[in-house]
Amino acid sequence: MTANSCILRVAINTPLRRLFDYLPGREHTRSNFRIGQRLRVPFGRQGNRVGLLVSLVNQSPVAKEKLKRIHDIIDPEPIISPEHLELLDWASRYYHHPAGEVMLGTLPTLLANGKPASTNPEPHWRITTSGRRFPPDEFGRAKKQRALLDFLNNRPEGVTRAQLSDQFTHWNGPLNALIEKGLVEKFFLTGEIRTVNQLPQGNVPLNGEQQQAVAAITSAVDSYQCFLLNGVTGSGKTEVYIECIREILKQGKQALVLLPEIGLTPQFIKRYQESLGVKADVMHSGLTDRERLNAWLAARDNNATVLLGTRSAVWTPFYNLGIIIVDEEHDLSFKQQEGFRYSARDMACIRAQRENIPVILGSATPSMESLENARTDRYRELTLHERAGNARLPHIDIIDMRGCRMQGALSSGLVDVIREVIDRGEQVLLFLNRRGYAPVMMCHDCGWIFHCHRCDRYLTWHKQDNRLSCHHCGHEEKPVTSCPECDGVNIVEIGHGTQRLTETLEQCFPEARILRIDRDSTRRKGSLENMFDDIREGKVDILIGTQMLAKGHHFPRVTLVGIIDADRGLYSTDFRASERLAQIIMQVSGRAGRAAQPGTVLIQTHYPRHPLLTTLISQDYAAFSRLVLEERKQTSLPPFSYHALVRAEAHDQALAERFLNNARERLDNNKKQQVTAYGPMPAPIPKKAGKYRMQLLLQAGDRNRLRRTLDPWISQLEEMQDHRKVRWSIDVDPLDML
Ligand code: ADP
Ligand code: ZN
Ligand code: ZN
Repeated sequence: MTANSCILRVAINTPLRRLFDYLPGREHTRSNFRIGQRLRVPFGRQGNRVGLLVSLVNQSPVAKEKLKRIHDIIDPEPIISPEHLELLDWASRYYHHPAGEVMLGTLPTLLANGKPASTNPEPHWRITTSGRRFPPDEFGRAKKQRALLDFLNNRPEGVTRAQLSDQFTHWNGPLNALIEKGLVEKFFLTGEIRTVNQLPQGNVPLNGEQQQAVAAITSAVDSYQCFLLNGVTGSGKTEVYIECIREILKQGKQALVLLPEIGLTPQFIKRYQESLGVKADVMHSGLTDRERLNAWLAARDNNATVLLGTRSAVWTPFYNLGIIIVDEEHDLSFKQQEGFRYSARDMACIRAQRENIPVILGSATPSMESLENARTDRYRELTLHERAGNARLPHIDIIDMRGCRMQGALSSGLVDVIREVIDRGEQVLLFLNRRGYAPVMMCHDCGWIFHCHRCDRYLTWHKQDNRLSCHHCGHEEKPVTSCPECDGVNIVEIGHGTQRLTETLEQCFPEARILRIDRDSTRRKGSLENMFDDIREGKVDILIGTQMLAKGHHFPRVTLVGIIDADRGLYSTDFRASERLAQIIMQVSGRAGRAAQPGTVLIQTHYPRHPLLTTLISQDYAAFSRLVLEERKQTSLPPFSYHALVRAEAHDQALAERFLNNARERLDNNKKQQVTAYGPMPAPIPKKAGKYRMQLLLQAGDRNRLRRTLDPWISQLEEMQDHRKVRWSIDVDPLDML
């Protein structure tokens, strides 16, 4: 076959659900092309686009005269392997997401934009000898220079742009001043294997259950198997991961560890590096495009041995991947909630299966899906029942708030216990998953409630920065002093957010050192890390936090955890609300008593006899999950059925509704599929940022049947004519109805 008789099938990053055919350039021969190369192709009126060569074919549905020629070939060699391309293709089919968006959207931005697939050395900065000898007081008023030099002095190996930005704002000027004085120098580090100073392997000896888990996993490293590592908080799951990785590294293979957004802290990275004696590469949303590309290339070219990453790291190609670990597998941040809606946890399992390697899903509070997979032997469950070392699991109790005397959001019982704990010099952690001062502002004269005109939702009062803010669309307003309805001036604050709770505590405990941790108080880069340091160093008595505090962190001085408001999760319309509440209660509780002193957890509720709470407290998460699974089975909800959610939004509610009605009709015409449609119905937030939102839920008892139904149906939806005015998307295995 000559070059001219071959047709290049190319993926392009567009929402169109298809691939595009091109002819080679006149100067090309067929041997110039290999699957996985990037090509520059003409595309619509936008001119040049970057495409990924997916296959070479002989026939195109488009007449040959109409096919355009590519402009040029970007990569002499493929940038990804055919196997990796197949994985992306599989994901695009499974999630019914346009192939081009999946294949190019999961590449590092620089590659998707056509930049060369090679490591550019990353600039680093380090302190010079004269910098080390420079007397600190000579900086005078140049405080930032002094702080920068201090920082660099503690890091003789040099720091990156990202590390500087983590700690400092506007560091460029002061850094250049230091360079001019000869105190700091810039240098370049390339991506070859870098080992950290080999530390003595001072690892704790594993206990029996840990050893059994490691033995089970390491004896099965040559084939696919999914392990569910079900271990209570503080049971030493991380040590198990590390031992398994050590075994994989010994065999010359690579390891991928996926963590929730918030779990990838410097401490955590250090723990891996020090125990394994290798430099771990990281991949998270805080990286620059260049850093991300470097980490991606390092993994692909076998220069990275361990990659620690958040959700999107699951799409990294590896030269010789030996194991995948998903820590806190129940965590919602593994699910991408917009654009290409995938579950990194599920993709980790699919990937392990395709590459024939083991995968570990670890959690103290596994998802119902994973527990059911373990029960039906699709996963192998390994259990760690006890906390590692000398730590004990905390004792959980309920505070019945009915008729109770309250100080703000605090029952008098809780206030008393807090006092005892801080008097003993121990720390208290109070959990309230609601930032701001008050969730509702109301006119006491007429009942008017301040709400967002774009979302029809209440505005949250942020007293500290004197603004009303919509937590759904980000809209902000200055507070008004009178009611827009009746001109009354009696505006009252209803409910409690973290700011108000902080105020209450300052009144009750004027002498205590109180720290609030939520998205508002940690907006500045690096501030969260500094706060964690303060907590660990005992500079804080009472910690107030949202779910940012719930996960994975180790605060050895915390002995009392208070859950301020458990009631919201008990009676929700979302069938997953109880699972989420139990997970968050167990995770927050897990922060208590992680060291020598035992911990206590107190849950404030008006429903002390709610079966969820009583099961969780008198028994454990396992008993609770059996209850939930039984309930899901009775009602045929996931994991006993499979969901796909079609969301539609438009400026006009009727348009969105009509689109989904038409969609449903087309589905109903095909009765034999045994897929049930519910809706269209308004989304739980029916209006957001000025757009009306409707949804249609599809449910099937069989995953393949759902998939077979969706395939032709989605092509029909694409062709339905009013879709330009309606934005729609599909979410396979949705976790959130929002
Ligand atoms: P998890 O990830 O299950 O919450 P970690 O792996 O973070 O638990 O371990 C909790 C704490 O227990 C850590 O401080 C860890 O160093 C310690 N630890 C883990 N395994 C052991 C062990 N076998 N003996 C003593 N301490 C241990
Ligand atoms: Zn009023
Ligand atoms: Zn809004």
